[in-house]
Amino acid sequence: MRLILLGPPGAGKGTQAQRLIHKYGIVQLSTGEMLRAAVAAQTPVGLQAKDIMAGGGLVPDEIVIGIISDRLDQPDMKNGFILDGFPRTVPQAEALDDLLKKKHMRLDAVVELRVNESALLNRVETRVAEMRARGEEVRVDDTPEVLSKRLASYRTLTEPLIHYYSERRKLLTVDGMMTIEHVTREIGRILAAIGAVEAKAAQKADKKSAGKPVVESAAKPAKTATRKATRKTVKPAGKAAKKPAKTVRKAAKAGSKGSKKAAKGRTGGSKGRPAKRVGKAAKKVTKRRAKA
Ligand code: AMP
Repeated sequence: MRLILLGPPGAGKGTQAQRLIHKYGIVQLSTGEMLRAAVAAQTPVGLQAKDIMAGGGLVPDEIVIGIISDRLDQPDMKNGFILDGFPRTVPQAEALDDLLKKKHMRLDAVVELRVNESALLNRVETRVAEMRARGEEVRVDDTPEVLSKRLASYRTLTEPLIHYYSERRKLLTVDGMMTIEHVTREIGRILAAIGAVEAKAAQKADKKSAGKPVVESAAKPAKTATRKATRKTVKPAGKAAKKPAKTVRKAAKAGSKGSKKAAKGRTGGSKGRPAKRVGKAAKKVTKRRAKA
């Protein structure tokens, strides 16, 4: 299984990656971790990246692409991997597409952890407090000032990837505001839904889960599902799965209301238009509809 975890700093990408690697026996590739190791080891890459990272900026694309390219050639990649923190820009995503193509690897999905931005600062503060309590060294970029810069760069440079992968039908969006446990289960369940992992494993997790519904998914559907769907709502587990998702029902209702309203407007709602023209237009619409 080959996955990308997408989300702003503090969304829980690292935490979820850790849980998923244990669950599915795959490797986590965190460019942030690799860069921090390079900084600590004072390698040429580390020396280049050090100040950029401390200031909350992004390390140049060619550096991170080089790191990932080398890493994908390692033998431990054969079972799959989770990319955490890469790609972070559209050029990085394009470079990754090329790399995977050359290496004959296929990406299964991109899991976006959608979180409430106002909760992020709290989360990072908690992370810092926990690290301090464990006696661990705290990241230099985990301060409120640098976090706001990292968030700004996420919004402008990384968020466009949501559209990038949605267009390629790879995107799965999960509510990242649920508990860590629930988020892991939801990820497992949607990965099973698209056929990326065995359904059995996810079903086990589902039985225990009283989780909230997944927000939405635009990933390539499982073989049995229709390929026409570009956005697909993965139904919540259990009883609720039998009912159509709320959002879908609402949208359908709104759609029919909208078309009724529109029809009203076309037949008699428009004061300025002569009745004849309205009638013609209505006929045209009826014809078009009949054709359709
Ligand atoms: P992270 O641990 O993912 O929050 O990354 C920490 C820092 O490493 C980021 O703020 C960037 O400075 C740098 N970094 C990590 N991944 C990338 C990437 N894909 N592209 C550019 N810079 C990165």
